[in-house]
Amino acid sequence: MEKKEKVVLITGASAGIGEATAILMKKAGFIVYAAARRVDRMRKLEKHGIEILDLDVTVEESMVKCANIILAKHGSLDVLVNNAGYGSYGAMEDIPMEEAKKQFEVNVFGLARMTQLFLPSMRKQSSGKIINVSSVGGKIGSPHGVWYQGSKFAVEGMSDSLRMELKQFNIDVVVIEPGAIKTEWSEITQENMLKISGHTDYGKNIKIHAASLKKYDKMGSEPLVIAKGILKAATARKPKTRYAIGKGVSIVLFLKTILSDRLFDRFLMKTLLG
Ligand code: NDP
Repeated sequence: MEKKEKVVLITGASAGIGEATAILMKKAGFIVYAAARRVDRMRKLEKHGIEILDLDVTVEESMVKCANIILAKHGSLDVLVNNAGYGSYGAMEDIPMEEAKKQFEVNVFGLARMTQLFLPSMRKQSSGKIINVSSVGGKIGSPHGVWYQGSKFAVEGMSDSLRMELKQFNIDVVVIEPGAIKTEWSEITQENMLKISGHTDYGKNIKIHAASLKKYDKMGSEPLVIAKGILKAATARKPKTRYAIGKGVSIVLFLKTILSDRLFDRFLMKTLLG
């Protein structure tokens, strides 16, 4: 199987960061596979010459089918961008365990299973890049974000572990840590938190928090900013282990390193809940 252009698969490419990354990587010369559940939403990507695939990262058969299509055509994958994800926000007490598990199914187990499916071929060709889209929320906690932050903390720890495990096979593992980005993420997250906890004893803070997410979303960076970071990681000979990207992200992460936990809590609570 002849292979000149590098092949990339981007999960969660029907919107936001994934969509922007698919277009940018196509322009950069990659053979791009864009995958998500809303296939109709990805039709416009086909006009850019991007291949679209139906993928639900919570369904085993769907993930196997997606991987098999790519492996049958190209023999291997050069870059896997594990980007699919959503924010299951709300008070921990109110979120049914079923939903908590779904959050981890999408943000953690989906990412892990997709990685498993491509690793044998990457090992065989002695190269590959796994780019995991985490979040600044993979480094800092947040009220009402127990499961989301938990899932992204898991992505961070898994990526660090896998990076060492795969070094012997010349496969890189990179973490992308976006801050607030103008995508559908914020609206979906606000909806989730208001639906689950807007009417409970946590309602007062939940409403304030949802309103500040709305405000910060407007002040956020464009998805292209993250797409550029992903492209940089995908094309670097020696990529950094993590890329924290977006307005204000470096300041927040710097404060996290210099402040005590309690002082940082106060800063974050003030920022989110006033
Ligand atoms: P969007 O909501 O715009 O896009 C999320 C994408 O994930 C969609 O394409 C959606 O596709 C896909 N997705 C969700 N569930 C599944 C599933 N079960 N199977 C396959 N695909 C799925 O959000 P973003 O672009 O902002 O999010 C991309 C990543 O960036 C996420 O991991 C998110 O946590 C992270 N992030 C975002 C931030 C932000 O402020 N926007 C900040 C930090 C991190 P479909 O519904 O069609 O399946």
